[in-house]
Parts: sequence; C-alpha cells; structure tokens
Amino acid sequence: MSKAIDETEKEAGSNRLEDMQIAYLGLGLMGEAMAVNLAKAGLNVVGWNRTPGKPGETALLSAGGKVEKTLKGAVSGAAVVFTCLGDIEDVEQVLLGPGGVSETASPGTVIADFSTIGPEAAIRIFNSLKDKNLHFLDAPVTGGDVGARNATLTIMVGGDEEPFQKALPVFEKIGKTIKRCGPSGSGQALKLCNQILCAVNMISVCEAFHLAKQLGVDEKLVVEVLSAGAGGSWALTNLGPRIVKSDFAPGFALKHMLKDLRLVFENLDGESDVLPGTKLAQALFKQVGESDGNAGGGADGARGTQAMSLAYK
Ligand code: NAP
Repeated sequence: MSKAIDETEKEAGSNRLEDMQIAYLGLGLMGEAMAVNLAKAGLNVVGWNRTPGKPGETALLSAGGKVEKTLKGAVSGAAVVFTCLGDIEDVEQVLLGPGGVSETASPGTVIADFSTIGPEAAIRIFNSLKDKNLHFLDAPVTGGDVGARNATLTIMVGGDEEPFQKALPVFEKIGKTIKRCGPSGSGQALKLCNQILCAVNMISVCEAFHLAKQLGVDEKLVVEVLSAGAGGSWALTNLGPRIVKSDFAPGFALKHMLKDLRLVFENLDGESDVLPGTKLAQALFKQVGESDGNAGGGADGARGTQAMSLAYK
C-alpha cells in the first residue's frame, strides 16, 4: 500500500517523494545512520545537530544531504521533521522550546520522533503540537546501530493514520518492519516492552559468557553455536562478538538503557514490584553505568550495553 503511495507521489510530480524536504534533527549514532540512508535513497534531507562539527554532519554531507547551522534553517520548508535525541527534556526542548520546531514548522507538518521517551511524554507532546496544527507521531525504533546502518529498523508508530500514511514511504527507506500500533503514545508503550526484553536478555548473554569462562568453554563458541539455537537473540548475535573482542564502544549507550528502564517504572507510576526481573536489570545496569569506566574506557554511561559483561569480571 505504501509502495503504491510512493509511486503515486512520484507520478504526481509536485508531490514527489524526492522533492519532499525532510529535516533531520539530531545526528548522533542513530540519527546519523538514518539520515545518511534517507539521503542515499535520493531524498532531500537537511540535517541539524546541536553541537556543530560532529561526525554525523560530515557523513550526511558525504551521502548527498545538506546540513544547516540552525534548527530553523533545517525545519523551514520541511514537510516532514524527524528527531532522534535523548531524554524527554531534550525532545521537549527541540520541539516545544523557544525557537524550536513548534515555532518554526509550517502548519500541517508531520513530526516523527525516533527517540525513546515513553508514552506519557509522547501524548503530552502530541497534544501541544496539535494545538499548533502540527501532526506528531511517536516513532521509536529497535534494531540498534546495526539496524540503523542497514536500514532494517523496526519502527513502532503511535499517532493519527493520515500523518502516518504521509510519513510511511519515508519510514520505508530506513526500516523493514513498520507498524502503526494505535493512537499517540502506543509506539512508545511497545518500545518500553522492547526495552525490558533487551535489558533482561543482555544479562542472560553476559551470564552465559561468564559460565562459559568458568567451565573453560571458548567464548567464540557461545556466539557461533548458541546464536542459532533456542537461546539465540539479537544481543547474542550482534553484541556477543563485541564482548569477545572487549569492544565496549556504544551502539546503544548504557545511559540510554538507564533512561529507558527509568521510563518503564515512571510510566508504571513507580510500581517496581510488578517487574522484579527488570528491577534487577536496572540495578545491574546502574552499577555498570555509574562505574568510573576504568575497566572499559568510558564513563557516565557512555559505553555500550555490552559493557554489562564487565560486571562479571
Ligand atoms: P546519541 O548518539 O547520544 O545522540 C543523541 C543526539 O541527540 C545527538 O545528536 C545530540 O546532539 C542530540 N541531542 C541530545 N539532547 C539534545 C538537546 N537537548 N537539544 C538538541 N540536540 C540534542 O544517541 P543515539 O544512540 O543516537 O540515541 C538517540 C535516541 O534513540 C535515544 O532516545 C535512544 O534511547 C534511542 N535509541 C537508540 C538506539 C541505539 O541503538 N543507539 C536504538 C533505539 C533507540 P549533540 O551532538 O549536540 O550532543
């Protein structure tokens, strides 16, 4: 269906997907990869990053996109605005703050946020932007840095159907599984469920490696053999080899995992007792994220979540 829209837009001339200006705000690890893939797909991408001179800017320019020095410069004339930032206050600042998207985007613009911020915040932002005739979609993603680079992300979307249909041909350039989950906040709600799977699974991966070491099993076999079995997972396949190589550089930073686990409990109104496994995962990730980083070369949660394995050394 979306492919059909894509084709129709191409034929319509003035509404061609390639002519649609897309603003991409936040060229961090995920934003860089997504913006680059959009530009490589031939779309008209204008990026902006708060801190100038980051690698994401160079990568987007090399892929054929443009980079603006100001948020206003990137958003002016955009039909679709994407954000991939950090926590709730970052998204609110960029979308609703002074000089932000709500003050610079044209009425009718579709704004999709790929950050993980939880359903409560997403609904609040949706309502604030609706008052300004701007369409907000919460569109958190999963698939990691690998999925972002390979344009195979899963995109979980909450919001109205019409803006979703408008953004869908663009989402298809960066994602493989794209699902409108329901009204505003529903993409974020599903994403928090995903973060429980990721957090708890990461612990099982690290404990399997630890047992392997204790029993004298070659670590490489844990990845090579077990990835194909019933205990296999995205983390084992993609992060297992990084653990073997002691590569703790972030694909997904510990600080973001800690944010996401905080969001799980905030959105449960602090009812931590109902998720004891997640609570334990949160405690272990805190321990690793807040450590001084001497063992892994990073601090303040800057290392990737696979640094959890250091807790078992
Ligand atoms: P990242 O590498 O830390 O990049 C964050 C980006 O947001 C940077 O461009 C940063 O700009 C910008 N930013 C943060 N706060 C801002 C603010 N107040 N105003 C303007 N710009 C701001 O993070 P990431 O790994 O790409 O993740 C981004 C989001 O996606 C997070 O919500 C994360 O939870 C989610 N996510 C990540 C992954 C993953 O595997 N990495 C997967 C799924 C979802 P500066 O350069 O100026 O700091």
